[in-house]
Amino acid sequence: MNENFGEPTDSEVDELYARLDREAKQGGYFLNPDVEFVKGLVRGLLINERRYGYRACPCRLAADDKQQDLDIICPCYYRDADLSEFGACYCALYVSAAVLKGEKELSCIPERRPPFESRAAKPGSSGASLDAVPAKLSVPVWRCLVCGYLCGREGPPELCPICKAGKERFERFI
Ligand code: SF4
Repeated sequence: MNENFGEPTDSEVDELYARLDREAKQGGYFLNPDVEFVKGLVRGLLINERRYGYRACPCRLAADDKQQDLDIICPCYYRDADLSEFGACYCALYVSAAVLKGEKELSCIPERRPPFESRAAKPGSSGASLDAVPAKLSVPVWRCLVCGYLCGREGPPELCPICKAGKERFERFI
C-alpha cells in the first residue's frame, strides 16, 4: 500500500479535472455539469491513487489489489452500461447527453458491479472462444473492457484511444 496520504492540492484537483474533461469530450463522453460535485469526486480519485496506487472509483470500496480492482479503476467497466440505462455512471461523474441537455432526470443508480465471488474470473469479459478465430485474420483482435473499443494488432495498445484505459484492461476478443 502506498503511504503517501497527503491531501491533494486544489491545483492537482483542477489539473485532473481539466484532463478528464478534455478526454471525455475527445471520446464522446460528458462530465457532470456540476463542477464542484465533480471536483469532489476528482479529489477522491486522487486520494485513492495515493492510497492504492491506482484511481479506484471514489464511490466504491477498493480491495487495495489492482488485479481485483481492475473493473473499478475510473472509468470503470460499468460506466457505459449505466450511462445508457440511467443517464449517469454510478458516481454520476459522467452523464449522458440527454442528462446534460436536461432531457432526462437523474435517479438513483443501482450498483452493477457483481459480488466478488461472481467476478473471480474476468469482469466484463466477452467470453469469446479463441478457438473461433477466423483463419484469415492475420492479427488478434483486442477489446477494451471499459468502452468496448476494438483493434486488430499483435498486442493491446498502451492506452485505449477512446477512454484512455491502460493495456491491462484489454482482453483478447478473437
Ligand atoms: S466512471 Fe465508474 S469508476 Fe469512474 S466515477 Fe463513475 S462509477 Fe466511479
